Amino acid sequence: DFDFAGRVGRVEPSATLAISNLANELEADGIDVVDLSVGEPDFDTPENIKDAAEASLEAGNTGYTSSNGIPELREAIADKLRADGIDCEAGNVVVTPGGKQALYEIFHTLIDQGDEAVLLDPAWVSYEAQAKMAGADLSRVDLSPYGFQLEPALDDLAETVSDDTELLVVNSPSNPTGAVYSDAALEGVRDLAVEHDITVISDEIYDEITYGVDQTSLGSIEGMGDRTLTVNGFSKAYAMTGWRLGYFCAPEAFVSQAGKIQSHSVSCAVNFVQHGGVEALRNTDEAVGEMRAAFRERRDMLAELLADHGVDVSVGDGAFYMMLPIDEDCEALAASDWGSGDEPRPVDQAWCEGAIQEAHVATVPGSAFGTPGYARISYAASQERLQEGVERLAEGGYI
Ligand code: PLP
Repeated sequence: DFDFAGRVGRVEPSATLAISNLANELEADGIDVVDLSVGEPDFDTPENIKDAAEASLEAGNTGYTSSNGIPELREAIADKLRADGIDCEAGNVVVTPGGKQALYEIFHTLIDQGDEAVLLDPAWVSYEAQAKMAGADLSRVDLSPYGFQLEPALDDLAETVSDDTELLVVNSPSNPTGAVYSDAALEGVRDLAVEHDITVISDEIYDEITYGVDQTSLGSIEGMGDRTLTVNGFSKAYAMTGWRLGYFCAPEAFVSQAGKIQSHSVSCAVNFVQHGGVEALRNTDEAVGEMRAAFRERRDMLAELLADHGVDVSVGDGAFYMMLPIDEDCEALAASDWGSGDEPRPVDQAWCEGAIQEAHVATVPGSAFGTPGYARISYAASQERLQEGVERLAEGGYI
């Protein structure tokens, strides 16, 4: 028997995994599943980025790089962040194999056993897991009563944070709601962070995917430069999920501590992938614009289709997700024994399991994000598939 460490015991297996396992089983049986559960663009990586990485591979860039990243990429990232109003030099940047690894290093650099970390619910699944693995005690503020916006929830946040709070995680545009937080909300975060000396992670991985609004970087707000850890990555904006490339920007004192975790764990991000990253940041505005326009059309179409079926969703101004409120009285649930029986399940689990098994539409239960009562729909799928998905949900009595 293994004597497992507490950190793995504190973490649950991913709820999204259960859904994708189910989807895979159905597809193995030859069933067509409309998969609206995935958190990745359905586009291929733009050609110029692939070409740059290929050329770099051919040129022999196959060895380790310096642990914090190649200078050209750290410069390109610093340029991007300065354009966003963040005071950032190449020395403030650590290039990581994915935004997820950037977050992992941040949590493990800051959190000691029992430190308090605060999440805004619904929150992306891995914040909780990473915070807990690092030993944090979690406090949560529920944004769902406020249409998923942060500004009206600032009083609740003020009641939750204290001088004992070590870390707050802000994610705008948000996965899973698509919400983009207002400047007033970010200024409210600043006031609380300064008052209680809190460090704030600003996860801006969807910053390029906004529709008609500008996303403000938290680190550009006056007073936040020295307490914001800005996280970003290439997965979403450039359709590069499998390349594993991300980064964070932090004050130098933080970089030298977190850099130890990076150098003793992953060593560095993949060499030629980093060269692809330079091309992505320098020369890909057009392709990013095309993907943004496609996401926007899909968002509007999906919201309309749902409205046609009487479902009113809070439509966010960014990312490619929507939280669908689950009607406990819908036909499909009324016909099932979700709330009774030997193993009563939360309503969102019952709805999502039914939707995939009966209607063959895959979504993610809201409880994975701390808000049962919703299902997350990803609209990183073609208009045809979105239409098909909504039709199936309606026919199956799920909406
Ligand atoms: N942050 C958020 C909010 C995300 O949705 C994701 C991916 O799903 C990530 C970070 C991490 O992405 P990656 O590790 O691919 O850069």
